[in-house]
Amino acid sequence: MNFHNPQLYSYLLLFFLVIRFGVPLIRKKIELNQTTRLYGQIRLKSKRWQVFAKSERGRNIYYREEGSGSETTLILAGFHGDEPASFRLVLRLADLLEAEPDLISKPVVLIPVVNPDGLLEYRRTNANSVDINRNFPGANWSASASEAKFSPGSKPASEPETRAVLALIEQYKPARIISIHGYLNMNNYDGPARELAESMAAVNGYPVTPEVGYSTPGSFGGYAGRKLNIPVVTLELPRLNDEVLWQQNAGALIAAINFNPQN
Ligand SMILES: [Zn+2]
Repeated sequence: MNFHNPQLYSYLLLFFLVIRFGVPLIRKKIELNQTTRLYGQIRLKSKRWQVFAKSERGRNIYYREEGSGSETTLILAGFHGDEPASFRLVLRLADLLEAEPDLISKPVVLIPVVNPDGLLEYRRTNANSVDINRNFPGANWSASASEAKFSPGSKPASEPETRAVLALIEQYKPARIISIHGYLNMNNYDGPARELAESMAAVNGYPVTPEVGYSTPGSFGGYAGRKLNIPVVTLELPRLNDEVLWQQNAGALIAAINFNPQN
């Protein structure tokens, strides 16, 4: 090989650029196509899905109820549109509970995507470029953000997606909440939820921690967990394929729904 050949370096550079930028772009495009198709088919797949509220662009924020009795668990996913694995995990859980309702002994409300406008553009924020997970009226909401992708909105609960989640809590008065994100690989908890997080960790094996490692003013966990004192686990999925995520978390989510507090 002639290492003094400038053409060789051009080829190597081109190869590097394709691997570094082209492949992730194509992967994202494929994932977005899949997500868009799944979102479009939600109500065709099951009539049990209903519309709870609308997004900024008028898209449906779906929900459905499974199980019966007291102590409702709320399972929310898709706060961030660039974490579509959370959306697909909740859709799959819905399919499982429809086929095998006896897996749960308590009620659950499933919300596969809080932020459909972000989901369908593979973007963290909503249509107003606001991070829904920084827009909650917790004690620590802040008008400033370190980066644009953490934009907290003009005021707490300025966004329709945030208000939809507040209305869900108001309506169901959940005994506990699981909020699914990616891709930090942890069972992060807020409020009185350490035992709940540990019951999930016993199945999915992810670390249990009250810290994500950086400050999250206006986050959902800070609001529902620390301000309202509802046990909240933020399930941060690792970056693994759907099949592995399902193996790790189907049982963890069912354990959360069936959880029996010790005190
Ligand atoms: Zn997230």
